[in-house]
Amino acid sequence: MSLTIHGIGVSGGIAIGHAHLVSHTKLEVAHYDIPAEQVADESARFDAAVKTVRDELEQLRGTVPAGAPAEFGAFIDLHLMILADSTLSVVPRTIIRSEFCNAEWALKIQTDELLQQFDTIEDSYLRERRTDVIQVAQRVMKALSGQPGYAPPPAGDSERNLVLVAHDLSPADVVLFKQHQFASFVTDLGGVTSHTAIVARSLNIPCIVALHHARQLVRENEIIIVDGTQGVIIVDPDAQVLAEYQLLQREFGLERQKLRRLRDTPARTLDGIDVELHANIELPGDVALALDGGATGIGLFRTEFLFLNRPDLPDEDEQFEAYRQVLEEMDGRPVTIRTYDLGADKQIDDSARLATNPALGLRAIRLCLTEPKRFITQLRAMLRASLHGKLKILIPMLMNASEVDQALQLLEQAKRSLDDDGITYDRNVPVGGMVEIPAAALALGLLTKRLDFLSVGTNDLIQYMLAIDRTDDTVAHLYDPLHPAVLMVLGHIFRTAGKVGIPVSVCGEMAGDVALTRLLLGLGLRRFSMHSAHLPDVKQRVLKTHLAETAPFARRMLRATDPGRLHLMLDKLNA
Ligand code: PEP
Ligand code: MG
Repeated sequence: MSLTIHGIGVSGGIAIGHAHLVSHTKLEVAHYDIPAEQVADESARFDAAVKTVRDELEQLRGTVPAGAPAEFGAFIDLHLMILADSTLSVVPRTIIRSEFCNAEWALKIQTDELLQQFDTIEDSYLRERRTDVIQVAQRVMKALSGQPGYAPPPAGDSERNLVLVAHDLSPADVVLFKQHQFASFVTDLGGVTSHTAIVARSLNIPCIVALHHARQLVRENEIIIVDGTQGVIIVDPDAQVLAEYQLLQREFGLERQKLRRLRDTPARTLDGIDVELHANIELPGDVALALDGGATGIGLFRTEFLFLNRPDLPDEDEQFEAYRQVLEEMDGRPVTIRTYDLGADKQIDDSARLATNPALGLRAIRLCLTEPKRFITQLRAMLRASLHGKLKILIPMLMNASEVDQALQLLEQAKRSLDDDGITYDRNVPVGGMVEIPAAALALGLLTKRLDFLSVGTNDLIQYMLAIDRTDDTVAHLYDPLHPAVLMVLGHIFRTAGKVGIPVSVCGEMAGDVALTRLLLGLGLRRFSMHSAHLPDVKQRVLKTHLAETAPFARRMLRATDPGRLHLMLDKLNA
């Protein structure tokens, strides 16, 4: 029977394919007793789960993407080793036999025991393997619950027909999908600016989040239509609906092809104002798409993705290579590399996820300042890469003057250490700050006095202004870039930056929302950075904008407080 489920579209277009269910990331462990005669079956079930995970990991190892960090393969080998160790693959069977309990419970008892032992280990390297044990145990647990962990389907054409249906996935999970060519990707949880959605958007396929119960309602292999523009999925559609969407899909494809012709056209308004359209990337491998979309620079390289999906941290040389690659491939165009914004929904240590309010916690620059050695390693790698292109360094989540001063001091320290080592670099690399915390946006002088440029992270700015967790699907509908307070603050930032003559860009998702292009231009923005997929649409809008006519109307929108009126005004602006 046909079924329609509504969510929030994060990436437009239409996909039609077969559902491929991806398992939950969090698991509840049931405990129940089993009769003696069931012990053998329960042990066999455990063995089968271990085998499933071994097969998954081996398959994953065979499909490591070309652009993946070098350690990714080693990380899979490590997980295979942990899985093969008798403490995980044999002892739970003994527990099933001695305790007459279900396999999940036996695995939980044994994992808890192992983790306790890890806590007493002095060697820091070995202690850090704790997270790997948790991850391997979770995979076995997922397999046991009849929901095997994500096993990539065979590469090739068949992937193009798959719609991944997930309950929840971390940004780190999604970044691994970049090696595949799925038709679409939908999740139950997540907000429109969650990092999972952001990475999903960079896959350049229709995506929907906040579907709430899709993972429960959809069955493996069912036909699904994903309308990413409307934020709706149609499960098991009838023939007429299917035919209508196939037609829409073709039309959408033709429209995209036409837009591609704008790639090399400069983004200039009808009245001759030049606008910079840059791309946001997560990994060096994304540069090709950025250039293909006509990006004239990289406005945001989210370097924290180099730190995810691996058991260890990338060292200075590995980071240097990644930054050098991006700078060289951008061939003299500006490249803004952001210091790592780990924490919140991008954790390298799973236990840190337990923070009560991770988005308000130890993330981004706050985390960097607590780990100066790790931060300096990254700064040294960036500075070394500075000779290979036009580098700018961007610091996320700044809130007060002391953070800016400390960050700049650490940069000086990194420069001195390079001097001591006789390594050359560009001494005048511009350093900018992200405006993401309302306090910094309002007291902008804190940043303008100390930094060379600003980049507004509207995803976090809106999260903190409207008090809505970006990752929480239950409040995703409250995300509102047109909230009068958001517009007022943006107007304030652009005006203030203009007055003191400091360049300002927007690199949050607002910059890639074509419905907001004219509004942002009218409020004074000239530098946009967005996922590559949005570049053609936004450029087309810029080309059709007469700024002298648009600006007074956009400024009038700053005075409107009625949401209905604001939406009407926006429609008029875009007409
Ligand atoms: C933002 O907050 O708008 C931003 C660009 O940074 P991120 O989405 O990575 O938090
Ligand atoms: Mg941010």
